[in-house]
Amino acid sequence: MMQRFSALSLFRRAFAGHHGWQPHWRAPEPKAEYDAVIIGGGGHGLGTAYYLAAEHGMRNIAVLERGWIGGGNTGRNTTIIRSNYLFDESAALYDHALKLWEGLSRALNYNVMYSARGVMMLAHTVHDVQVFKRHVHANRANGVDNEWLTAEQAKAFCPPLNISPALRYPVLGAALQRRGGTARHDAVAWGYARAADALGVDIIQNCEVTAIRRGHDGAVTAVETTRGTIRAKKIGVVAAGHTSVVAAMAGLRLPLESFPLQALVSEPVKPVFPCVVMSNTVHAYISQSDKGELVIGAGTDAFVSYTQRGGLHVPAHTLDAICELFPMFRRMRMLRNWGGIVDTTPDRSPIIGRTPVPGLYLNCGWGTGGFKATPGSAHVFAWTMAKDEPHPINAPFTLERFRDGALIDEAAAAAVAH
Ligand SMILES: Cc1cc2nc3c(=O)[nH]c(=O)nc-3n(C[C@H](O)[C@H](O)[C@H](O)COP(=O)(O)OP(=O)(O)OC[C@H]3O[C@@H](n4cnc5c(N)ncnc54)[C@H](O)[C@@H]3O)c2cc1C
Repeated sequence: MMQRFSALSLFRRAFAGHHGWQPHWRAPEPKAEYDAVIIGGGGHGLGTAYYLAAEHGMRNIAVLERGWIGGGNTGRNTTIIRSNYLFDESAALYDHALKLWEGLSRALNYNVMYSARGVMMLAHTVHDVQVFKRHVHANRANGVDNEWLTAEQAKAFCPPLNISPALRYPVLGAALQRRGGTARHDAVAWGYARAADALGVDIIQNCEVTAIRRGHDGAVTAVETTRGTIRAKKIGVVAAGHTSVVAAMAGLRLPLESFPLQALVSEPVKPVFPCVVMSNTVHAYISQSDKGELVIGAGTDAFVSYTQRGGLHVPAHTLDAICELFPMFRRMRMLRNWGGIVDTTPDRSPIIGRTPVPGLYLNCGWGTGGFKATPGSAHVFAWTMAKDEPHPINAPFTLERFRDGALIDEAAAAAVAH
């Protein structure tokens, strides 16, 4: 039974010296066999396990995580949430996620701190203006909120913004999605883990998958792990930057490249920054956490790598852009920077679906922008694994599109797709 959080339970525990809180999830030994195993204990994997149990009645499931849950990109990202993607397929997928974000804390009985503070994307060139206005129209046709702001309106929405025409790349306007915002990344992993555990899902940390076994018919039969062999007829690979490594264990070659992507945070200061601002052209994105730190995202390295850190010139370039756009931050100190490995597809859209290997399912290719999709991705992937057929929302996001040419080319649409 999951211990429920409420104002009353918080008061009760506070007066009892905070004794009696249950651990959020168990630490079970792996069983010899499950109906399904999920490889990867990030938000997408844990969410998939939760929806498999909550909506499809599959309780005999394990999430296998080689480190600690949320220690991958889920715990390393800058938490920007938005759904104003250009193409119909993407808008449907990301807006499905956004609608789930809006009710997620209540659904999980866990505060994921979703904050719809607005995501503003700056236009600095005529090309940017045309692209973002096209996005605004396309989004509205799909029922997704997005509006065009002049430079003055952008400054009114985000007062620290420098809209001087003397800038090397002056701000010519912005697209604003008011329902966009941020959420607390760790809480997303913990909230899904706690709710999935309460439904009987085994969350097994420090358990690296080292091989995938297949039977005579080619179907998956088991995984080898650092904690022994685990049999399962359904295996979901949700391993983000290491998806190609895991898929290769089943003999599958994927159209993915893995790059380090970096982020950094400043010392904490009082609330000064009311929204999320992104600039694809000068390449910087920034918000302020509830703790007060400026959370800043840099770009990917130019070369593939699994190092989980990147070149120093990449965040240095981002900080140049931040200082020009927000001169008041010039004297702030940066406290930490880090990297995560992102798995990018040629069209910068994810792959969610079945594979040519029976029983093996893929949820990957989220690149630099999968956190925002976490609940939607997990929800449709659970459907796909449970029913062995795609949910209508993820049906276009096949692996086969790279063979057949039905790309969902958000890379060309937005230049970057954070
Ligand atoms: C610096 C940075 C900034 C970002 N900013 C944003 C943003 O602002 N907005 C946004 O929407 N997205 C952002 N992203 C992207 C986003 O973080 C990811 O797309 C998303 O979190 C992926 O979630 P996941 O659950 O698929 O992956 P992860 O959280 O990485 O989980 C995958 C897990 O698989 C595990 N694993 C790998 N191999 C094995 C194995 N062999 N056996 C067992 N376990 C294994 C890993 O340890 C890992 O915990 C950013 C990413 C980075 C790195």
